[in-house]
Amino acid sequence: MKHVDEYRDGETAQKLAKTIAREVDPNREYRLMEFCGGHTHAIFRYGVQDLLPTNVKMIHGPGCPVCVLPVSRIDQAIAYARTPDVILCSYGDMLRVPGSKFTSLMKAKAEGGDVRMVYSTLDALELAQNNPDKKIVFFAIGFETTTPPTALAIKQAQAMGLTNFFILSNHVLTPSAIQNILESPDVRDLGSIPLDGFLGPAHVSAVIGTQPYEYFVEEFQRPVVISGFEPLDVMQSILMLIRQLNEGRAEVENQYRRAVTHMGNAKAKNLVAEIFELRRTFEWRGLGHVPYSGLKIKEEYANFDAEIQIPVETPPAHENKACDCPAVLRGIKKPTDCKLFGTHCTPDNPMGSCMVSAEGACAAYYSYGRFR
Ligand code: SF4
Repeated sequence: MKHVDEYRDGETAQKLAKTIAREVDPNREYRLMEFCGGHTHAIFRYGVQDLLPTNVKMIHGPGCPVCVLPVSRIDQAIAYARTPDVILCSYGDMLRVPGSKFTSLMKAKAEGGDVRMVYSTLDALELAQNNPDKKIVFFAIGFETTTPPTALAIKQAQAMGLTNFFILSNHVLTPSAIQNILESPDVRDLGSIPLDGFLGPAHVSAVIGTQPYEYFVEEFQRPVVISGFEPLDVMQSILMLIRQLNEGRAEVENQYRRAVTHMGNAKAKNLVAEIFELRRTFEWRGLGHVPYSGLKIKEEYANFDAEIQIPVETPPAHENKACDCPAVLRGIKKPTDCKLFGTHCTPDNPMGSCMVSAEGACAAYYSYGRFR
């Protein structure tokens, strides 16, 4: 299939692997973080790690929107699901993420809460149209790729005159998270060896461009390569990072030129800027409170903000202490370091968010048979 097979070609992958092997400096390690769970899955699905020299280490980052939501935000969604006259809707994965004390939206539904799975914001709007006597709360999650559809849904709800459609905004920002990782002492110094460079997600940069990464490349002197998700994209991006490191450069480079530009998609960015503004701080699973890393709905559109229109209270969140998701998300532990991995915690019975999502690192290790 054109535009797919050409980026999965085995011969080209072998050639790239040979080039990488030839160019790596055998006297050093290259510790490269793939920020996005989509890259983690591509690496394991296509065996990219096995094609790399042993001194090129891929470290998995927190770029999975389901995984990074803290227990407190799951508890908040569950509280909405238990509120009379509210229909709480979200994407399928969100319904399975454990909240405090092993609760989940799925369990809240079994206990009588009105929880619906949707595939898109359009489904959520349709729910609002079809249930005028109910309040529809859309549990909105995701990075810069899913924020424009949420913004558009608010505009559409306004145009349709819907007064029963609300957004519980959990949209988060990629560059702020990478900056936090670089500033965090336990991540910056993984053992005694620093984190050397990042693969940035192409779909995020299709919206925001490459420009937002320039600040921290300069500030922290770590290279970033914006990478596509096919195996050859990932391998070429790894080679680009290795070349930068060998040459002592720290720049933002764009491997995914077929869709990513310097400034991104102006229309999508303007739409998001019209509806959303930065939160002073937002809590991430694993990273804690990260300044200016999340988005809330602007006052002009507060009619659609669930947190303002239907405030709910939740008791303090309880983390499952046996789950190592926070350390996995910071890249300081591998899924197989967790005692529950593959035994108590499996995709059928997830104990933490990283095993739920298709983009989670634990799910990737489990699905592709990485038990060591
Ligand atoms: Fe959490 Fe399960 Fe991953 Fe362990 S294996 S870190 S319990 S999601």
